Amino acid sequence: MVESTEEHVVVHIGLDDIDSPFNGCTTHFTYMFIKKYLLMNENIEFIDYPNLVRLNPSIPFKTRGNGAVALRIKVRKPYKDVLIKALTNSLTDYINAYDVKSKYSPGVAIVEGNIPVELSRIYMKALTDYVHIDYLRNLLNKVNNIELPLGISRGVIGALAAIGWPQDTDCTYELLAYRLIGNIGRERCIDWNSLREVDVKYKDYVFNNYDHVEDVPLVAPHGSDPVLLGIRGNDPEILVKYFNELNLCEAVDGWMIYRTNQGTDAHLVLRSIDDVRPYRTLCVETSVKSRPKVLRGAHVVIEIHSSPKTYAAFYADTSLTNVARDLNVDDEVIICGSVKQWSNNTNVLNVEKLYIKRKIIKEIHNPKCPKCGKRMKSLGRDKGFKCVRCGFKSKEITKDINISIISLNSLHVVKTSKMKHLSKPLSRYGRERKCSYLIPTSKWIEVYV
Ligand SMILES: [Zn+2]
Repeated sequence: MVESTEEHVVVHIGLDDIDSPFNGCTTHFTYMFIKKYLLMNENIEFIDYPNLVRLNPSIPFKTRGNGAVALRIKVRKPYKDVLIKALTNSLTDYINAYDVKSKYSPGVAIVEGNIPVELSRIYMKALTDYVHIDYLRNLLNKVNNIELPLGISRGVIGALAAIGWPQDTDCTYELLAYRLIGNIGRERCIDWNSLREVDVKYKDYVFNNYDHVEDVPLVAPHGSDPVLLGIRGNDPEILVKYFNELNLCEAVDGWMIYRTNQGTDAHLVLRSIDDVRPYRTLCVETSVKSRPKVLRGAHVVIEIHSSPKTYAAFYADTSLTNVARDLNVDDEVIICGSVKQWSNNTNVLNVEKLYIKRKIIKEIHNPKCPKCGKRMKSLGRDKGFKCVRCGFKSKEITKDINISIISLNSLHVVKTSKMKHLSKPLSRYGRERKCSYLIPTSKWIEVYV
């Protein structure tokens, strides 16, 4: 990581919760701020791509997509205060212009110099658990190189978590193209056929941009989001080619590439079965306690061995229900997802990934005739069996039960269109990598207007 020098100071800027229900979003503000103040600015130098850091998707009052942003830059020392002033002024303007509602609490955090270890902890907690505002207050008492120009808010948690995202972990990239202000709210004009074709062309380098099974594009958000589209992939240079080969029938303001924890399963940490709590994201190693129960709407629920009582829910639209319906009692599994609490206070794990380690296969047949070997016929419940070949009858004889255990080690994931930003798609298994981050801005941002 780049260190501060006599003339320069390394500054990390964290931003979160700059959303409103209908307009604006944290990444759009980031793009607008970089475009206006940081490009071609000789006082600053980027030492990383802008980071788009996804946090716990199961927190109910999250912003859309629950993504926070971190900017990592080297600033000429006398310019630092000017920069922070520009940041807070732009933010105020943005909030007014885009009607960022008071329900959201924009968070800005600035860290100068080395990133305190406490920030990697708040990242892990904000990624996989619920962070209470007192946790934040406690952290702020311990660390002295954090500035909060807008004060304490829930958004500061995400802002600090984004800064604390560890640099040496698996990561991916996303190119976000922003709409012209006048187009925001209008129907998006993208040639979906070109998207499908380009996606096939670069399929080894990109993920979750197009669901080719269901023939559904996944790149465009809905409604009045200022993002026209987002292309996710493992290689930033491919993303630029991909974007340039698309047929867009509307002009864009520009695009920017983020380095991100999307598609990495960072949120699925292995926890003990005793650590299942509402709002946590996790994987647990357990076994099936009850036979699958099919609920109204074709959702499937099983109870797993745990204390307190925990159910695993497989939703009908995730494509996991077929596998779930075939689970047997005592099957050994690893189940991953996020924990919700249902109205009767039971914990329910909404399953994103199911790994079946060992499966118990129970085969039940009518008994074979002890005299002639032919399979016998049941005479009805508790009435015994009769051989149709030799006529032998018995009430004592019982059914043959054959139990076989097979090691499956099979992995099942929700279908592409239902995947969360953080979920690792099957195509990324074996392609995990640490990203490089010292690159010139010309490689990751393009401004057209
Ligand atoms: Zn017989």
